[in-house]
Amino acid sequence: MAAPEDRSAESGTDVDVVIVGAGILGIYQLYVADRAGYSVRMLEQGGGVGGTWYWNRYPGCRFDSESYTYGYLFSEELWQEWDWSEEFAAQPETERYLNYVVDKFGLRPHIRLDSRVTSATWDEDSASWATRTADGFEIRSRYLVSTTGVLSVPQFPDVPGREDFAGESYHTGLWPKEPVDFEGKRVAVIGTGSSGVQIAPMITDQVESLTLYQRTPSWATPLNNHPISAKQQAYLKANFASIRAELEASVTGFLHKPATRNTFDDTAEERRAFYEEIWNSPGFSKLTANYKDLLLRQEANAEWCAFLEEKIRGIVKDQATADKLIPRDHLYGGLRPPYVADYYEMFNKPTVTLVSLRETPLVKVTATGIETSDGMREFDMIIWATGFDFGTGAMRRMGIVGAGGLALGDHWAAGPLTYLGMMAHGFPNLFFPGGPHGASGNNPRYGALQVDFTHNLIGYARDHGFRRIEVPTEGEAAWMAMIEKLRPYSSFQERGQYYGGNTPGKAKRFLLNPGGRPKLDAFMSRAVESGYQGFLR
Ligand SMILES: Cc1cc2nc3c(=O)[nH]c(=O)nc-3n(C[C@H](O)[C@H](O)[C@H](O)COP(=O)(O)OP(=O)(O)OC[C@H]3O[C@@H](n4cnc5c(N)ncnc54)[C@H](O)[C@@H]3O)c2cc1C
Repeated sequence: MAAPEDRSAESGTDVDVVIVGAGILGIYQLYVADRAGYSVRMLEQGGGVGGTWYWNRYPGCRFDSESYTYGYLFSEELWQEWDWSEEFAAQPETERYLNYVVDKFGLRPHIRLDSRVTSATWDEDSASWATRTADGFEIRSRYLVSTTGVLSVPQFPDVPGREDFAGESYHTGLWPKEPVDFEGKRVAVIGTGSSGVQIAPMITDQVESLTLYQRTPSWATPLNNHPISAKQQAYLKANFASIRAELEASVTGFLHKPATRNTFDDTAEERRAFYEEIWNSPGFSKLTANYKDLLLRQEANAEWCAFLEEKIRGIVKDQATADKLIPRDHLYGGLRPPYVADYYEMFNKPTVTLVSLRETPLVKVTATGIETSDGMREFDMIIWATGFDFGTGAMRRMGIVGAGGLALGDHWAAGPLTYLGMMAHGFPNLFFPGGPHGASGNNPRYGALQVDFTHNLIGYARDHGFRRIEVPTEGEAAWMAMIEKLRPYSSFQERGQYYGGNTPGKAKRFLLNPGGRPKLDAFMSRAVESGYQGFLR
């Protein structure tokens, strides 16, 4: 039986570390802090732990990282005990896993749920943070760790009349715990990003009709999920050490084997056979195991896209619909590619309609449906699969005020300024693993590096009698210069999500680390080797 949440440490109690956000990174940060003997309190706005895997409970929500590469690697015992049932587990399993971890390691008593942080203020004299939640709980801590996620603030488009709709309305990122009944309903799904393309095929057999509103088509390819067989399970259990070593050394955080050839090294026939192999390979390997020059040479990428176009045209019977589904404004990897099951196939069902918002823009939502420039369609349910305020959404809403009264929301008004994607000058003793400017790839893998860096830095300060940690201006400037320098080499197009492109009014500054894991490692090593020179007081 899980230990109950302990609310005895109420307002005013000091702790060493406050962690905000009970997602996969926050739970890991809590684990390492607790094991190292710090007093620690975690605040989570949701009614349960799991972060992404607590909120996104829509039908079809699942990993596109292989389950066992996404889960924790810090405990072999955990690895041996937990059997992932599928190569790409669905949301309920991941939520169960994260709850299992919290209970196994006795972390639940430290977690205060239903606790939305509304302000966190730095006090220079006491070198501590005063953190407050919406229900009036207050706590002071030497360190504040914000593991609030980059995809945790659901976003709705600015459409007139959105609130007027009288039917059922849901956002995929705020999905209710109670089952939603789709039976016999006329359903609209708005958005064809990663969530929209996951949910739509899952409900087509239950609905009376499904209308999918698409603004920007993406290059969706098969996830190629499968159950984990007893043989594979035995292999995973027997090879923990080597799998962990491989993941820890991997630039992308995946086990996929990078290809050694460039696109035009192969003949047309060889290329076609290789593309077929990649099409049938799991999840992100379309990016990580594809030809080496896929993201470096336009002609190479266009060749892969031509293959994908042919696939889409082969699956979707109505060629006018296929036309709409084929991206014309970006090559593969220009936007974050989604991984799907039965997505293109579903357009062959008579009950499924695709509406291109490029051709017929949204006009308004009314009490009974959605009006586009070609007329009105009536619905019983609208599903907003319209994504998140990526990158800075949660941290800018937390009311963080650093040294000299500097508000993070204002400081980042033109986009985030960070060091390693996890510290900011002017905000001492604040860390935000998994924040904007982290590396890219399998999230928990590089996020764990940031958690470890945070933990080791705090430990170093404790052991050497320092109480204030702040990244020096030149440290932050060097990291930001790296981002600016490498940004043009990123495959992501400038109006996309990773530039804040989906968030109305959001300043455009690149929100990822285009130098990836190698740059993250290099900067971290430099800081550690210098004894965190310039960071400690
Ligand atoms: C549908 C979906 C599928 C995904 N699939 C993958 C995948 O397969 N592979 C992959 O690598 N990545 C995936 N991601 C990205 C995913 O977000 C990360 O993998 C990972 O879950 C991030 O963990 P985190 O701990 O940093 O943040 P989160 O899991 O987002 O947790 C942050 C927590 O902070 C809480 N919080 C935020 N603000 C406050 C506040 N003010 N007060 C209190 N609490 C607050 C939130 O409620 C949330 O619980 C997916 C994302 C989504 C949305």
